[in-house]
Amino acid sequence: MEESRTVDLLVIGAGPAGMTAALVASLEGLDVLLCEKTDQVGGTGATSAGTLWIPGNTQSKAAGYDDSADKADIYLSGLIGAGTNRVLRDAYLQTGPKAIDYLTAKTDVQFLTCGTHPDYRSNMAGAAISGRAIVPVPFDGRLLGRHFRRVRAPIREFLVFGGMMVGKPDIAPLIGRFKSAANFIYAAKLFARYLSDRLRYPRGTRLMLGNALVARLFYSLCKRDVPILFDTSLKDLVHDGAGVTGAILSSSDGDLPVTTRRGVVLATGGYAHNEQLRRRFMPKASPIYSLSFAGNEGEGVSAAERAGARLGPDNITSGLWSPVSIVKRRDGSTGLYPHLAFDRAKPGLIAVNAEGRRFVNEACSYHDFVLAMIETNDTAKAIPAWLVCDAPFLKKYGLGVIYPGHSNPGRFVDEGCLVRASTLDELANKIGVDAAGLRDSVARNNRYAESGIDADFAKGETELNRFNGDAGHKPNPCIGPIATPPFYALAVWPADIAVSTGVLTDADGRALDNDGKVIPGLYACGNDMASVMGGSYPGPGTTLGPAVVFAYRAAMRAKAETL
Ligand SMILES: Cc1cc2nc3c(=O)[nH]c(=O)nc-3n(C[C@H](O)[C@H](O)[C@H](O)COP(=O)(O)OP(=O)(O)OC[C@H]3O[C@@H](n4cnc5c(N)ncnc54)[C@H](O)[C@@H]3O)c2cc1C
Repeated sequence: MEESRTVDLLVIGAGPAGMTAALVASLEGLDVLLCEKTDQVGGTGATSAGTLWIPGNTQSKAAGYDDSADKADIYLSGLIGAGTNRVLRDAYLQTGPKAIDYLTAKTDVQFLTCGTHPDYRSNMAGAAISGRAIVPVPFDGRLLGRHFRRVRAPIREFLVFGGMMVGKPDIAPLIGRFKSAANFIYAAKLFARYLSDRLRYPRGTRLMLGNALVARLFYSLCKRDVPILFDTSLKDLVHDGAGVTGAILSSSDGDLPVTTRRGVVLATGGYAHNEQLRRRFMPKASPIYSLSFAGNEGEGVSAAERAGARLGPDNITSGLWSPVSIVKRRDGSTGLYPHLAFDRAKPGLIAVNAEGRRFVNEACSYHDFVLAMIETNDTAKAIPAWLVCDAPFLKKYGLGVIYPGHSNPGRFVDEGCLVRASTLDELANKIGVDAAGLRDSVARNNRYAESGIDADFAKGETELNRFNGDAGHKPNPCIGPIATPPFYALAVWPADIAVSTGVLTDADGRALDNDGKVIPGLYACGNDMASVMGGSYPGPGTTLGPAVVFAYRAAMRAKAETL
């Protein structure tokens, strides 16, 4: 182990934010060192859907979608407030397409438009239905050769056959593989590729979503020979009174002092697994479940605070949330299944609290669903909440990890994950909710299924609701009867997918102190940076969009700093 090192820029954490900062800095000619606590790149980003919210992006414009920073600003002003994070927001909206164009022109980080993918408050002024979100182009992991093992795998529950990734377009042909020759051939090709992968690799190499994003960033870094110190963690920052001048890194070989000419970029993914910081910024969701990578223990933000940086803001709900159900795996471990889009909005499901009452439009965004759980829980227990459906729903749409048409849903009942009963009263009794309340909620739902109008929560009335519903179901794509036994219930809990408080920064990711002054040499991006969205969740890609854009801005700023 060397005794010390001097570089232009030290980047801590090899998730999407850190890898973007390191890649841009390297392209701009800086001498960069990237340090990663674990033996793999990707962090939470590797398990994500990989969507970036970039209003006015080039990929969507080329596909004919009309959008602009001004339109997105109207939307954000309605959602967050016109003045909130004004300077950062302007920088974000103006730089978004530029940062993406830069990456696509100079690296293997390539994107596609998502097409239709509505904003999460799609009924508000300025919201977009299509063209605001982009996803990474799928990536062939074989290009990484022996380095493929360095890419963190997706959530196990999202893999088929124990290691194959599937994207949205794959789902219908896979489920309907015996329904048409075209589907069968499509599924057979996927499976053949997967089998051939498994002869040489620990999992499938056809990478999509967040895994494609982090693999593309990593591949681009490898091509540029950017040094990455794996199994090396940030111990502390070095501060000389005027600013940050480096950091002490720590590994099993001991400590490595690194002196920086242009700064340190913190990108350690936030503090979701730091109990103290959770108590400080997100005290209400209990018990604690987190979909953030387990290594994100707040070391970046804690070191920044010790160096004089201010964490905040204090006045927002810090978590960005998804409801999750708990999965028992065959090896005895447990997993969390995020109910992002596939089941809640489909017709024939309601979510109830302990009074057996609905408390939310089930088809709203995963973030808004959990905010409603947390708020309701103050008056009627809604943690956990119960997703309730009947047998035809389970067969047609699936529920969480139980995919549509599953041959043996009884397995999940036996494992204690899913509750089944032949009457609603029996179901209520088994899950401990008020039986009269549940009966009444189901009766109301069944009336709304006929009329197509949800008089309680207006389910099915926004573009987002309908996007995730079943377009073929009439009169309302999100409301169907719950009538045919057996009836099923699944418990869902709040889990964070990201934190939105962190180091307060200027528009270039430069950390600010308690007086709002820049701390020279210290940057934060990704979930180490206080979110530009002020704790709200405007649409798909709310964290990865800013992670990439502010990482780009931080690297550009570091380059522009005079020495
Ligand atoms: C199921 C799921 C789906 C999601 N889908 C989306 C989506 O489609 N769009 C979106 O915008 N967001 C999505 N998210 C959220 C998104 O993945 C995260 O917000 C994003 O990955 C944060 O990026 P990051 O680089 O800040 O942190 P991370 O991706 O978590 O990376 C942090 C890295 O820092 C490393 N690290 C931690 N501590 C240290 C240390 N002390 N020293 C060195 N290294 C350290 C970690 O090991 C890790 O590699 C999703 C999340 C989940 C769970």
